[in-house]
Amino acid sequence: MKLYNTLSRKVEEFEPIDKKRVKIYTCGPTVYSEAHVGNFTAYVYWDLLVRVLRMNGFVEDRVLNITDVGHLASDADDGEDKMEKGAKREGVTVWQIAEKYMEGFLADFRALGLIEPTQICRATDFIKEDLELVEALDKKGLIYETSDGLYYDTAKFPDYADLARLDLENLRAGARVEYNEEKRNVADFAVWKWVRDGEDHAMQWEYRGKMGYPGWHLECATIIHERLGETIDIHCGGIDHIPVHHTNEIAELEGAYGTKMANFWVHNNFITIDGQKISKSLGNVYSFKDLKEKGFSPLDYKMWVLQGHYQSERNFSFQDLQAAQVRLKNYKNFAALRWQGVERGDFREVRERMLKYLNNNLNSAGALAELDRVAGGEIAPTEDFVEFLDRVFGLGLAETTGDISEEIKAKILERARAKGKKDYKLADKLREEILEEGVELLDGKDGVRWRYA
Ligand code: AMP
Ligand code: ZN
Repeated sequence: MKLYNTLSRKVEEFEPIDKKRVKIYTCGPTVYSEAHVGNFTAYVYWDLLVRVLRMNGFVEDRVLNITDVGHLASDADDGEDKMEKGAKREGVTVWQIAEKYMEGFLADFRALGLIEPTQICRATDFIKEDLELVEALDKKGLIYETSDGLYYDTAKFPDYADLARLDLENLRAGARVEYNEEKRNVADFAVWKWVRDGEDHAMQWEYRGKMGYPGWHLECATIIHERLGETIDIHCGGIDHIPVHHTNEIAELEGAYGTKMANFWVHNNFITIDGQKISKSLGNVYSFKDLKEKGFSPLDYKMWVLQGHYQSERNFSFQDLQAAQVRLKNYKNFAALRWQGVERGDFREVRERMLKYLNNNLNSAGALAELDRVAGGEIAPTEDFVEFLDRVFGLGLAETTGDISEEIKAKILERARAKGKKDYKLADKLREEILEEGVELLDGKDGVRWRYA
């Protein structure tokens, strides 16, 4: 199985540390507002990763975090706190905001049929452990204090530029001096922030006799260390995380303990909508509720995501979503052929070809193109093949493609009898009634076939 590793900028053969168990960490959402269709591309692709690992005989030990503290609006160390912003917007506490949007996120996660991570960890449950990491960094002389927090001295971590291949010279030259005069280097970042006089910050904990809260990256370093141990196999996240968030996670964990954080770093690209960035001001921040209102299910959306590659920048449009919906319906009708007494095919070779694509850096688009070659035909899949499709794509084909009801079957027979008696009026009426139940009849040379309308 091959994966693109951001560390080497190459597609590499995936080799886990342990032969069977694969340790994976995925940076989770900041739970301050509803997730949009852009955010969820990542979780669909990382679900595909887990499924492909399973197909290769691996068992995953996967942790997803929920950021409920410390993420400032700019991703750097300034700007408003995202949780505080959410709380103000809705006139509730930050804890209520966290609860509400965490539940919403998990509901969307389930609606998409994504495999539950082994552990879901909330950042605020790891404050004590965060502070142990801060202590470890302090012992190594890697942090210094400023008036607004404890900062990481990135000049003391020689590998700092590695993951993102940062050009630190240019960063220095381009920095605005007034930005934070207390910082020793432009790239230095807050490990722990102090709550300043007059600052409204509901989530705060005492450390060294002062109140403060963790910097954004600390939670991931801590949770990985606590729950997955030394070096993990795969760390996943969006490409926006490479230069700041993931670079800083590495500096924290590797700086404190001297161990390599992750062997593989995989990053998903961004999606645009109708060619534009997703943003409130453009009014294109679509949630699953919005999709539902327009007649699309979470699985239609998942189908759309799987049609593309995680490393490609993709454009989302409702027209394309509709095409994905049709494609998913075709797969359902392919699966539904199982109930119609037609010949069943042997798709073992198709399955092998699909796996080859998936094992090649998660090429789901290639695998789906292979499926299209057989799914439009007249030959029914075996139960095994439908089960395989569900295991790799999680599109719920087996459960959504049951046999039609006895009532509809009786109507189909009645219609055949009406046709036999040349009562075409009755036959058409019955066909309409059946269509209203969501089942379309197709008359062929071997008799009548049905499909989901
Ligand atoms: P945000 O809550 O806006 O910080 O987004 C959380 C994460 O979702 C980001 O760090 C990205 O990795 C991901 N994300 C946000 N917007 C997009 C997008 N348009 N396409 C893909 N991923 C996105
Ligand atoms: Zn993270």
